[in-house]
Amino acid sequence: MNKIAQIFETLDYGPAPEGPDQANAWLESHGRAFGHFIDGKWTKPGTTFASDNPATGKTLAQITDGTAEDVDKAVKAARAAFKGWSGLSGYERGKYLYAIARAIQKHARLFAVLETMDNGKPIRESRDIDIPLVARHFYHHAGWAQHLDREFPGHVPYGVCGQIIPWNFPLLMLAWKIAPALAAGNTVILKPAEFTSLTALLFAEICERAGLPKGVVNIVTGAGETGQAIVAHEGIDKIAFTGSTEVGKAIRAATAGSGKGLSLELGGKSPYIVFEDADIDSAIEGLVDAIWFNQGQVCCAGSRLLVQESIEERFITKLKLRMASLRVGDPLDKSVDIGALVAPVQVERIRDLMQRGLAEGAVVYEPDGAIPSVGCFLKPALVTNVSPANTLVAEEIFGPVLVAMSFRTPEEAVALANNTKYGLAATVWSENINLALDIAPKIKAGVVWINGTNNFDAAVGFGGYKESGFGREGGREGMAAYLKPVWEKDLKAATAPKAAAPKFDNPLDNGHLDQTAKMYIGGKQARPDSGYSRAVYGPNGNLVGEVGDGNRKDIRNAVEAARGALSWGNSTAHARAQILYFLAENLDYRRDEFAERIKAQTGKSGTAEVAASVERLFAFAAWADKYDGAVHNPPLRAVAAAMVEPIGVMGIVAGPDLPLLGSIALIAPALAMGNPVVLVPSETAPLSVTDLYQAIETSDVPNGVINIVTGDAASLAKTLAEHDGVDALWFMGSSQASTMVEKASITNVKQTWTSRGLGYDLTDRQKFEGDYFLAKATQIKNVWIPYGA
Ligand code: NAD
Repeated sequence: MNKIAQIFETLDYGPAPEGPDQANAWLESHGRAFGHFIDGKWTKPGTTFASDNPATGKTLAQITDGTAEDVDKAVKAARAAFKGWSGLSGYERGKYLYAIARAIQKHARLFAVLETMDNGKPIRESRDIDIPLVARHFYHHAGWAQHLDREFPGHVPYGVCGQIIPWNFPLLMLAWKIAPALAAGNTVILKPAEFTSLTALLFAEICERAGLPKGVVNIVTGAGETGQAIVAHEGIDKIAFTGSTEVGKAIRAATAGSGKGLSLELGGKSPYIVFEDADIDSAIEGLVDAIWFNQGQVCCAGSRLLVQESIEERFITKLKLRMASLRVGDPLDKSVDIGALVAPVQVERIRDLMQRGLAEGAVVYEPDGAIPSVGCFLKPALVTNVSPANTLVAEEIFGPVLVAMSFRTPEEAVALANNTKYGLAATVWSENINLALDIAPKIKAGVVWINGTNNFDAAVGFGGYKESGFGREGGREGMAAYLKPVWEKDLKAATAPKAAAPKFDNPLDNGHLDQTAKMYIGGKQARPDSGYSRAVYGPNGNLVGEVGDGNRKDIRNAVEAARGALSWGNSTAHARAQILYFLAENLDYRRDEFAERIKAQTGKSGTAEVAASVERLFAFAAWADKYDGAVHNPPLRAVAAAMVEPIGVMGIVAGPDLPLLGSIALIAPALAMGNPVVLVPSETAPLSVTDLYQAIETSDVPNGVINIVTGDAASLAKTLAEHDGVDALWFMGSSQASTMVEKASITNVKQTWTSRGLGYDLTDRQKFEGDYFLAKATQIKNVWIPYGA
């Protein structure tokens, strides 16, 4: 029998290789050696390293290892180009993005083949997923450029952005970074990952051909040290990073106190939950896509299968059968499912992790059948017999390895799903819409796919919760990440309030019974753990009162109480609004007393500040049920509901000024959005907040939603920053203490906002009664739901 007849007999795939000739010709046209693309020109190759094809081990080209001087040149070029580029009308900028999108489509096959050769991913994926999504991203953002002024009034671009990307979706990650940055009017220096620089360099050529003004896009190649030089460069206004959580933390530490904008898209260990009423065949196909797409080198890979115990055996049997039909081989073959991993070092890393998992008791299944003997290939693997503590369950493997566990009840599924430091994505399979939509809000992840998986679109934000990072790419949120309010650029240093020298011989002279202001934790007044008090002095150094001197233990108790009150975020927005209105009412009722207390501490009339505080509570009560999400219509059989969710427990450290409004202006937006808070009020004038306890108690605020710890602001902020139970931290204070806060917050990749010693005037209603703090008190979860035919 000839081969074709045999194939008819066996129904096996025949080979369907894609030709590499044009990609090779392009590489040859550059002499297979590349410099950087800076200021619209190609530099001569410097010290180079090899970029290999992981499927063959053969070198494709030599890539220049960028130095700090190269980065500096690129930053200068980007700075010089900024004025002209940001000064263009949105329409003009949009036309360039449109031209880039067109050019990518015209050269789509070249991009796809080059990507596959460089990265090892199957041509089916680069051709049908990566490159079409890249074009879609530029089209979508061409539109944002055009409507920028209308949609983001009062906002301006950051300036020069440093962008650092990983190797798993080289051109797609470039598009996710460059398209919104340019649409917003920024100029960029992008560093591709060292394993996969080629499509970024081809992209630079596209920019040249599209006539993009020089210096707007600069591509500097290199490895980690080049990335460090970008992060450290003082001429860069914002860093956008996608990569591992480990490097993301290092970047957070390196940028602390610099005032650079920062977005971090980090790793994941996403759950793939299959309920017993799921369409099992669809769930199996989805799972193939979730974990074996791009060899599992996907940040949002559904790498943790959680299957309901009642169907576990049947599901696993079917899955193994399906795994046996997955074809591992030449990524340029159009009928190959699993290509090569990116580099030998990645294969080694995965093997090491597997060895550790096995030693800890895991059982591994790999289907029979050969894989190529040369190149970075691994078989698809299914790991069972694991507990949540097994390395393979806890660590991001970033390879074709699925870890399976079972659950009995929906509650158990949610607990297992959330039992991870990451929070990038999750998938839920169930034919019961009530069940699926009950689970989606309970999962702590930035993306939830229902009865589908790995759906992406330029109009839908993508990004993580917890240690998967902060910031979003795509959609309105993604645009917002490249813009800032215009007034923020002109902030000047804050003037520190003058403290009078304390008069130690001065007894309390307020004519009242002696009052001891305690902490307020879990709805109860609590004595400070330290047993020490702090004196509060008036403008003449006279003693106005005393408050507890809080320490680590008080903060720990307060955080525990706040974590116990996380259900505040599940209460209705209407209920939260009612409680904030009630608090305003109770404060207003005692306004004279509060005004007097402000005067006693500051020497200035407190009437206006109390009125402003009442108004601020009203403003955010009003926002509670109005600052909400959107429904996106991606070009797929689905809608994506962009749900605005609270971040979790928020630490809020008020500045020394404005004894009352300084705290209210910060906690009101946090509370309105559903975050329980641990508040450290003004360290010099805390009595206006300790006077609030009764108002809080009579306003139906649930216990633990507002916790107050008085004491030294910087040291309490440090404890909050280091505490893993705190999800976000706002700090108003000096630039030095702000740097400390940002550095200390890396342990669980907290979202931070710090005032860096700048004069944020919280009395300004225009700036601070709107969405400025609301956006920082929330994160968006995109829930993809099948919709329409
Ligand atoms: P990586 O963190 O090792 O490298 C990412 C990039 O950072 C590369 O360009 C690298 O050269 C550079 N880099 C390395 N050290 C640096 C330093 N100290 N300072 C500045 N830059 C530095 O990650 P990787 O191995 O290339 O990519 C895999 C990781 O990326 C996985 O953890 C994956 O989950 C994550 N990822 C996340 C997303 C997302 O959107 N959340 C998307 C894709 C990949």
